[in-house]
This record gives sequence, C-alpha cells and structure tokens, in this order.
Amino acid sequence: MYQTHRNICPRNCYDTCSILSTTRNGILISVEGDPLHEYTKGKLCAKALEDVKKVYSQKRIRYPMKQRGRFSGYWERISWDEALNLIAGTILRLREEYGNALPLALNKYSGNFGVLHNAMEGLFSGLGSTTRAIGSPCWSAGVDAQTYDFGTFFCSDPGDMGKSQLIWLWGVNPAWTAVHQMPLLLNAMDRGVKVVCFDTYFSATAARSSHFIQVRPGTDGLLALGFSKVIVEENLLDPDLASYSLGHEEFIQYLRRDIDLNHCAEITGVPVKTIRELAVDYAKTHPACIWAGFGLQRYTNGGQNLRAIDALGALAGHIGEPGGGVQYGQFKTWQFAGQLQGLHPKQTPESKGLLKSVPQDKENREDRLLSINNFAEQALQCSDPPVKMLWISGRNPLSQDGNLHLWKALIQKLDYIVISDLFHSMSSQAADLFLPVTTHYEHWDLHASYWHYWVGVNEPTIAPVGESRSDLQIAWAVSHKLNQLAPGSCAFPTGGEEKETLLKEVGPDMLEILGLETPEEILNGPVRARFPATAWENRRFKTPSGRFEFGSARAEASGLPAFPVYRPPLSPSEEFPLRLLTPHHATTINSQVYSSETEKEDFIFHLSPEVAERYALQTGERVLVWNKFGKLEGIVQIENRLPREAVILYQEPVKSNLPLNSLMGTPNTDMGNLSLGAPGFALNETFINLRKLN
Ligand code: SF4
Repeated sequence: MYQTHRNICPRNCYDTCSILSTTRNGILISVEGDPLHEYTKGKLCAKALEDVKKVYSQKRIRYPMKQRGRFSGYWERISWDEALNLIAGTILRLREEYGNALPLALNKYSGNFGVLHNAMEGLFSGLGSTTRAIGSPCWSAGVDAQTYDFGTFFCSDPGDMGKSQLIWLWGVNPAWTAVHQMPLLLNAMDRGVKVVCFDTYFSATAARSSHFIQVRPGTDGLLALGFSKVIVEENLLDPDLASYSLGHEEFIQYLRRDIDLNHCAEITGVPVKTIRELAVDYAKTHPACIWAGFGLQRYTNGGQNLRAIDALGALAGHIGEPGGGVQYGQFKTWQFAGQLQGLHPKQTPESKGLLKSVPQDKENREDRLLSINNFAEQALQCSDPPVKMLWISGRNPLSQDGNLHLWKALIQKLDYIVISDLFHSMSSQAADLFLPVTTHYEHWDLHASYWHYWVGVNEPTIAPVGESRSDLQIAWAVSHKLNQLAPGSCAFPTGGEEKETLLKEVGPDMLEILGLETPEEILNGPVRARFPATAWENRRFKTPSGRFEFGSARAEASGLPAFPVYRPPLSPSEEFPLRLLTPHHATTINSQVYSSETEKEDFIFHLSPEVAERYALQTGERVLVWNKFGKLEGIVQIENRLPREAVILYQEPVKSNLPLNSLMGTPNTDMGNLSLGAPGFALNETFINLRKLN
C-alpha cells in the first residue's frame, strides 16, 4: 500500500523545503518537493534526494552503543535501559559529588533545526543550572550588524527580489547553497535585470550572473564605504534620509574625510572606475536589492562589513523599498512558544524568536554559558566546578571547531561523553556512549526558515529505523530514568506525545503571525507568516531611536564603533602568507550531508595561476598545507579567477583521518554578543603555507 506524508528538510539551509515522502508497505521509497510550498515549489536539491539511501544506509547506527576506550573503535551494542542507566547514573553521581549540575555540559547546534530537538535544552534545564554552549558558528556578526542598524533581525520575503530592477549578490552563492532563489534570479536576468555577483572567487553563481566583481577577502566593508562615498560625491543620496535615519550627517562626514577611492581600489582590488560606475548604477536604479551572504561576516571585521553594506542601502534609499533592501536573514517567523527547552521568561528583545541559543538571565538562572566557538578552551578553564560530562547533540565539533588540540585536552579531562547522532563522526570517535537518533522521516517536528516566511509540520513517515529515538523521546526517557532512580531529580517531563508537544509550541504569537485560529490548523500543510513582503516598508525601525541607525549608541556601548567604519581583516604573516577560504560545496552542509558514498580520495586545494606560479605548482601535484594548528596533504587544482592571496578548500567529505578544521584556530568575529550571546567564528581568518610534495 502506498502512502504519502509531509516532511520538512531540517538542514541548516536557507530553503527549509517542504517534502512529500512516499512509503510502500511502511518502507520509504521516494521523496519529492511539496508543490503546496510557494517558495520551494515542489523541488528539492540533490542533498535531499539522497535521503532514502541515507535513512536505510548500512552505516546508520541503529542501536545504543558503548565504546570500550575512546578512539578505540570497539563499539558494543547495549540496550536502551543500560544506556539510560549509564547516563542517569553519571548525572546523579556528578551532581552529588559537586553539589550542583554545572559539571554537566550540553554542546548542541543545528544538526536538525526542528523545534522538538530543543528537548535537549529542556532536559538540561530540568537538571538545574548546567553548562551550555551558546552562540553560533555561522552568522552571528551579521545578525548583530543588522540588529544595530534596523533594531531587529528581519528581511523581505525572498520573492520580493522579483520586483528588483538591479540585484547585487554579495558574498552569497545561491547556485549551490540556496537553489530555490535561482529561478527568480535567472528570470530577472531574462527580463533584462542586471545581477551583479560580488565574491572573493568565481563561484557557480558568479558564472550565472550578468557581472562578476572580485573582492579581496575581508574588504567588503571598505568597498561598500567606497560606493557610499561616490553616492555622496555625486549627490545621489536619498532625499528622504533625514526623515527615517539617525546619524547620516556624521556618517557622510566620515566618508568625505576618511574614505579615499584610490585606497579603496588598492585594498579591495576593484578599480576606481568600476567603483564609480557601480555606485552610480546602484543609486540611480530603483528598486535595487542587495543580498549579503554569511561568508563576508566570517572575519574579525565581519560585523563592520555588513553594517557598511546596510548603510550603503540606506544612503541610496533602497531600505523599505519593495524589491530593494539589504537581505541577510530573519528570525521573525521563529515565534515558537519555547516551552520545550525551558526558556527563561525574561528573553532579551533581540533573542525573542531565536530558540537555539538564547542568552539567559544570569540573575535568575546560573547556567554557565560557554561560547560555542571557543567551547573547549572555555570548558578547560572551568574549575569550580569543572566540566565532567559532555553531551554532544546535532553537532560534530571535532570536524567543525577550531583549536582541535584544546578539544583533545578537554576530552581527556571529561568523565563521560555522550553523543546522539545518525552516523559515526569524527566526534563520536571520542564518545563513551552513542545514542541512535531518528531522521526527519521518523518523528514529528515543526520548522521555520531563517530566509523565507513559511512554517510547517514534519510528520513521521515510517517507524523508527532500528531502535533509534527522537531527541524528544531520548530526553523523556532520561528524565524518566533519573526520576526512577532519584525521584524529583529532573523537572523535564518523563513522557508524552510528540504531536501534542509540537502543538504546544504553536502558541499565541505563532497563531497570530500565521493567521491561524487553533494550533491544529498547522497540521494541514505549510503556512506563510502574514508579514508584508517588504521588510521595513513603513521605514519605522525597531532601534532605540525608531530610525535606521547609521550611528548606533548600542554598538558604541558595546565597545564597537558607533558608525560603520573600515576595520581591516587580519593580515597574513611571512610564515603563513596565504589565506584559507573554506566555502560550502553544492553537495554538503558542513558534515551534515557527508556520506561515505560521496567521499573524495583527497583534499583539493584550488589555487589561482598566480599562487601556483609563486609556488611552482601544477594541477594534479601533491602539496603539504600547514600552519601552527595542523597540516593536511592534498592535490592542487589551478583555476582562473581565484584570489591571488588565498587558497580555496571546499567543505567536502574526504577519505582522511584529519578534518579540514585541523588548520583552524578560533578567531572571533567583532560582533555576535548582542543577539546570540557570543561572537561568531571568523574562520576566513585562517592563514597557511604550502609546499610541493615529491
Ligand atoms: S538542503 Fe536545503 S535546498 Fe536541499 S532540500 Fe534541504 S532545505 Fe531544500
């Protein structure tokens, strides 16, 4: 018998696609896009089309497993009861020994963006004050930048870009990472709309755009300031600027006084003539939209880069214009009730709607909050009490974080490491206990996007594979075991129904934005939040002044420049003269979509002809790449239009015992604390050296 169910792709991806999955006699046989979803329009990318194989992969872990010695690879199948006894026993012992729950740490992020996965936070909240990873490795500086400028984090409906007469794609590669935006961009070009792609390298999107502007890494902010300077010089400012902005006069003074176009051209690599032409075109074309990607804010000056781009959009009068704006992402559709994870009721205005990593009220809760990007380093510094037990969920820090030597040191100090995942990973090698989790085809869930305005329910399509359980079921079971062993020891619920729990997350705020009467209506299919398609259309902003803030007192109070100013990125040294850039590949999202079927034999280092010549390298030759953090071997591939001062290494699965992040430290971005509680990961500030291997 054939049956069809509705699912949502839970990956950390712009598109958050709605899926129709089909089963035959209870076996998942196919997945396709849900045509009801007006943004993803019935299409899925190649990553989701692998889902059936992934669900039934022989490599999937189907039972709880215990490792006999970390990194030994000797895994032994155990029962859930034994696994729960091991976890609960460790929690109770540590709490008894230290008199509180702070030795218990949770390191969780976006392995599955479904709201019911917040059960892990809920479980830890139920244990008392614990140690948590907060922040984001992904986009923190940009989120703060937009929050300083606009007052909250919001963008137009992606379909609004269809009204644009000029589209600037700035450091974003939708041809690989947001494929559902591509038809709109290609249609726009067919209508004669110019699509200009700014990037550090000639990406797949650059290849499909009308124009490509190559920008030196980390200098995007200066380029935006150069454009703004031209707009001032040419008297192309928005005549209404004074009515809705704060501090534009001081900003204009700064541009006149401190921004020199020759210097801008020298630093950014974009000729003065091009800067002038592009700036005039941008200021004179209405509506004109900028879509800023995440890569340009993964620098130590990342927040300033985005603030400068926001300011450019405002100076030219594109903010609040249908088809205009500076788009980056949004949290406004994440208005879930937050009951599950035990959120403290006193959320900050900036964190409202952000469920993954909410800065908590330290007066009332004393959770120990460690930056997700400096987790190992900060956990090692915890002594009163030390961190003793670590639960890794929805993450693979040994394949994602920097300073791996600190992770290795932390692992040695921990009494117990639990990981919940679908497959073994670099991180599971360090674990004592592996808990098998369900895929999104095996549990209920609820999803919003950080890009479009759609919210939808994920239904279970098939029974859990093997003995896998959802995070919510695991959290209930741990709480049940704890309360069995020590009544009253965990406040998290000890059981329930996934569907009921899901419906409780659709509270009054969510009903309001979706225009629903009852939570049950969300079960009928994906719903678009009733926001206007254009962000800030009325030009009333959520900043303290209610205006677009060129000058932000909040930024200044946080020790940042009040205005968007140019701050250079880190410079290479003689010892490590090349920057390493590690963009996403079309087939992966970090290690979420890694599978052994697609593993490459070797790392491929993409070099410009200039870099290759400097090191006397040819395509196909082997190189050693190293810095003070580690070393990797791989193959050279020479390509035109790559940066002259950088090497590109895509995030792809490779048959290697060493992950790409062996070369990473943990430089922080300039912003991130305001909205996410910790700075972001400035991973584009990684520098290397290389040499030919014989
Ligand atoms: S990875 Fe992104 S584009 Fe691909 S199916 Fe999932 S949400 Fe859609």
